[in-house]
Amino acid sequence: MDGDGKNVSRRNFLTTGSLAASGAVVGASGAEAAAQDPEDGAQSDYALRTRALVSVLTRKNLVDPATMDAVVDFYENRVGPHVGARLVARSWLDADYRRRLLDDARAVARAEGVTGFQGTDLVAVANTPAVHNLVVCTLCSCYPWPLLGLPPAWYKDTAYRARAVADPRGVLREFGLELDDGVEVRVWDSTAEIRYLVIPERPAGTDGLSEDALAARVTRDSMVGAETLGAA
Ligand code: FE
Repeated sequence: MDGDGKNVSRRNFLTTGSLAASGAVVGASGAEAAAQDPEDGAQSDYALRTRALVSVLTRKNLVDPATMDAVVDFYENRVGPHVGARLVARSWLDADYRRRLLDDARAVARAEGVTGFQGTDLVAVANTPAVHNLVVCTLCSCYPWPLLGLPPAWYKDTAYRARAVADPRGVLREFGLELDDGVEVRVWDSTAEIRYLVIPERPAGTDGLSEDALAARVTRDSMVGAETLGAA
């Protein structure tokens, strides 16, 4: 209860408050449905704030729910690590493609119809037996969304952002990746102007696999440098 005696519990305020009238509109939004906690159907504070914001913006005709659903669908279903994995797999099969990817990843991505970088550059860095690359955004959470989709929660975590540069080997160890002392670790700090794609080493035992089969082996975390790909 608040000072006016109204019920303001988080679970109920949307149905008892002034936003209730917009429930039908909000209920039609996939964005709102996606905010449900899959565990018990309850909603997190963030989900509720999102729902309230959507309600207000929709009632004021500032956003179109259909447009918003299309954006959410784009980043949840059409964009994802499978896009980056395709580039990586092809780079394993085609030396010329790999060279072009390392020279100008953005141009290669654009040629393949991968768009949405909105002016940011894209740089591909390749792992080798001697060099391991790790990507972070120390300032916030800059990430190559068009290639990898939504960033994982740990990528946005302040501990990862601080420790990836201060102690990358320690961070990688906690990810389960123990690098030999002789392997150089290069940490790339993403910004609003530049995003990075790690090309992991091709796993052993994958000779003769098709591009599709190889792409299926490429994980999101390997393209951030948080893991390597084990033998087939
Ligand atoms: Fe950032």
